[in-house]
Amino acid sequence: MNKWGKGIKAAAFDLDGTLYFGNKVVEGALELVAFLKERSIHVQYFTNNSGKSRQQIYDKLTALGFELKIDDLSTSAYATAKFVKERGWDPIYGVGSSAFLSEFSSFGLKLTNEHKLVKAVVIGLDVEFSYAKLAEVLAVVKKNKCKIVACNVDANYPVENGNLMPGSGPIVSAIENACEKKVDYIIGKPNTYMLEDLAQEHKLKKHEILVVGDSYASDVRMAHHFGCPSILISGTHKKHKKTLVVRRLKDIQRMLHA
Ligand SMILES: [Mg+2]
Repeated sequence: MNKWGKGIKAAAFDLDGTLYFGNKVVEGALELVAFLKERSIHVQYFTNNSGKSRQQIYDKLTALGFELKIDDLSTSAYATAKFVKERGWDPIYGVGSSAFLSEFSSFGLKLTNEHKLVKAVVIGLDVEFSYAKLAEVLAVVKKNKCKIVACNVDANYPVENGNLMPGSGPIVSAIENACEKKVDYIIGKPNTYMLEDLAQEHKLKKHEILVVGDSYASDVRMAHHFGCPSILISGTHKKHKKTLVVRRLKDIQRMLHA
């Protein structure tokens, strides 16, 4: 695979639409991961999914046949909790599922409804988001100078049968609109916090990480922002600088064999 494969020490794989669709593993995914590991290339699993905890997604991956340690999985929810913890923003006000909020608790961060105490509002996918919750966030943000941290601003995400569901993005937009303020940080793809973490944890240089994903807007743009090569699993997008476009995961393995 020429310049893309040279010197690669880690591959960061997107999950939905790349390694699996719903509960179905993509053809060639398990073989490609095994092939990379045989060549001592670290495999990291990346997802913007903020509706589930890292443990839940880890359990899904292992049930689908992927062999990994939990630290091999980077999720936008986990990364957001880590980010907020590192900055000492505690307590927090959370918008998101109970699984999402549990990530913050696991870092020892406290959730509070006391508006004046809130140091950061954190936003993930919340399928029960409502006008009442929006009003609550507005009250929190107007009462103090807390930070607003979003897991991601994905417009939607794919579900079974090719249908789409609204993502965290519309929730973030509603909050920004109501509060007349942009969020301070967006942690998930296409921003680079998860890649920076991977590089730091495994002492990798930028060019040693290869991003593989099916989304130009999140996966390829994350790689581009970070400055590392990427492979887009698609036949429809225009080729991007430093991006190789392939139709199937199997093609990557074949190129590496060459
Ligand atoms: Mg995807």
